[in-house]
Amino acid sequence: MTRAYNFCAGPAALPQAVLSEAQKDMLSWKGKGMSIMEMSHRSNDYIAIAEEAEKDLRDLLNVPANYKVLFLQGGASLQFAQIPMNLLRGHSSADYVNTGMWSTKAIAEARKYCDVNVVATDEHNKFRGVPAFDTWNLNSKAAYLHYTPNETIHGVQFNYIPEVDVPLVADFSSSILSEPLDVSKFGLIYAGAQKNIGPAGIVVVIVREDLIGDVLPGTPTMLDYKVAADNGSMYNTPPTFSWYLAGLVFKWLKHHGGLKAIAEVNHRKAAKLYDAIDNSDGFYGNPVIRSYRSIMNVPFVLADASLEKTFLKDAEERGLLNLAGHRSVGGMRASLYNAVPEEGVDALVDFMKEFHQRLG
Ligand SMILES: *Cc1c(COP(=O)(O)O)cnc(C)c1O
Repeated sequence: MTRAYNFCAGPAALPQAVLSEAQKDMLSWKGKGMSIMEMSHRSNDYIAIAEEAEKDLRDLLNVPANYKVLFLQGGASLQFAQIPMNLLRGHSSADYVNTGMWSTKAIAEARKYCDVNVVATDEHNKFRGVPAFDTWNLNSKAAYLHYTPNETIHGVQFNYIPEVDVPLVADFSSSILSEPLDVSKFGLIYAGAQKNIGPAGIVVVIVREDLIGDVLPGTPTMLDYKVAADNGSMYNTPPTFSWYLAGLVFKWLKHHGGLKAIAEVNHRKAAKLYDAIDNSDGFYGNPVIRSYRSIMNVPFVLADASLEKTFLKDAEERGLLNLAGHRSVGGMRASLYNAVPEEGVDALVDFMKEFHQRLG
């Protein structure tokens, strides 16, 4: 059986070793005569799996002891609402930075709960970078500042962590675990699992414990971080299989040297692809200002857009899958998450050169 190289933005590639291990244990987990999916989430076996996943994630990200790690549902999109419900804590407004489509969605949802002060936006530049920090219109009375460190669709990534006086909240859905991160600089970080963590069905929330416990009136019990934290993210039945598989991904990352090691590979992978784009005499192009180019999601266009369909078809024939750009922006996009091997990027770059020679 051969596996293709999958550049999908999400749900995305998973490490083959992780899938093989899950397959080995699929019918009878560790000889228990049943699969993980058929086990009570309150059983000792499952609790051990869940706790080990949390511990491994804490190890990988060096999560300080005064932070809760939550495994929740509803994806990153539900966090767009759950964050204001939990973090307004009596404040009437929150600050948001707009660097692309996911920030835009977070802003629209937060407006249902509070005054949103958009401190800076790059919309007028078609989201090709990050507005200069010294131009941000920060509000010192804001409940928090929300930003999107990596915009998955536009391929724009912050190359710094903003220093602000209010709790910093960040949507790390498409860049968590891609490189080391100083969690202590944040009030809350969150990430939908299906990019760099595991299968869809889980969103990981890491939140400083002093920020939780004071929700907006009417907040559903299920959306109160404190309730989740007090119940080990098992107030109700969690997505047990997704949580287990995320745990296997954390073990895989640790086994391969942790986030410093994977970051080196990720930067090498991205550099190879950007070099191929930049050295194509304009045959391929990437619109993002260089210092804000994403390491994880690389959008690119063909100067002759009429070749796009052929490009995608020929790529697919070579086992290079899911290179179409997001439906809202078109063009191409290669997502280079942790589980995309460097050989996959080499194969993509070789194909891009061959395609250029053939049709350029
Ligand atoms: C994919 C993505 C989302 C949406 O995630 P869901 O889990 O589908 O809700 C939000 N933010 C970013 C940055 C993303 O990449």
